[in-house]
Amino acid sequence: MWPTAELHVHIEGTLDADLIHELAARNGLPVPAGAGRGAPFRDLQEFLDVYYANLDVLRTRQDFQDLGARYLARAATAGVRHAEIFVDPQSHTERGVPVEDVLLGLSAALADARAEHGMSGGLIVCFLRHLGPEAAMAALEAVLPHRSLLLAVGLDSSEVGFPPALFRDVFERAAAEGLRRVAHAGEEGGPDYVWEALDILGAERIDHGNRALEDVELVAHLRATRTPLTVCPLSNLALRTAGPDLADHPIAVMLDEGLRASVHSDDPAYFGGYLDDNVRALVAAGTVTEDQVGVLAANAVASSFLPDAGKAALLAEIRAHAELVGAAVPALALDPAEV
Ligand SMILES: [Zn+2]
Repeated sequence: MWPTAELHVHIEGTLDADLIHELAARNGLPVPAGAGRGAPFRDLQEFLDVYYANLDVLRTRQDFQDLGARYLARAATAGVRHAEIFVDPQSHTERGVPVEDVLLGLSAALADARAEHGMSGGLIVCFLRHLGPEAAMAALEAVLPHRSLLLAVGLDSSEVGFPPALFRDVFERAAAEGLRRVAHAGEEGGPDYVWEALDILGAERIDHGNRALEDVELVAHLRATRTPLTVCPLSNLALRTAGPDLADHPIAVMLDEGLRASVHSDDPAYFGGYLDDNVRALVAAGTVTEDQVGVLAANAVASSFLPDAGKAALLAEIRAHAELVGAAVPALALDPAEV
């Protein structure tokens, strides 16, 4: 198993049928009608309707700790050594769950994972773009008392119609607080959304970024600046933003173009797979080679917000694994001086 980093997983998207039933029973709630529903979905909206309805069973700090622990234990089996986890506080505070229960529950799970699985990690608070910039600013203000638990801010949910520029002020405020910045862009929105995320929000990583390939100038810019793209192939198939054949997935072109792209899970309980499942599916489809799996792992580590020493240690683990399995991973991808 290649050691790697998970940089694009929504913790709410790991809420599977087993845990939904368990939490519904614990909290004396009905099991939501969509429990256990997975891909395919008619479109993004159908998926989001099921997704938000299922969240109703998450009520207490313990619920969030259990959700985080369940995910982190599964990630450890996928070779994940460092996990930067998205959380949408607005999905929970809107239902009356105190934001500290969300953040402290997940942080407790991360602390336990460090002890139990030797994994490092952190939380990225995402703003739901369909709720607009004012709600995003209120959400940021609500989490700032817990600033020490947070790595970064991000932007997710329905993309088209909610361009990054709307969120300029909230990202500026987050940066002033010393938070790192990432944003979903170029999943459904065009290359202009990616440019805005970079130029206006100061995003250091682009989540998805598939449609960046439509703009030659943008591809050159991403390559020159080594801007990471966190790509989620099974999610793209489930939501029909790529495919229908995984063999045609843009990750192959991204790697050929020398972009710092890596593969992640997105919402694995709904889209059919965790990080390792995504990688296995790409190899099975012939989209990436076994050697390129090592490049994807190295890119993920290089794209993380780990300190340099942490990156160097994980790259050394990847180098050792490459030697063990006889994989040819370019030395440049594994050079700590290059990250
Ligand atoms: Zn996502």
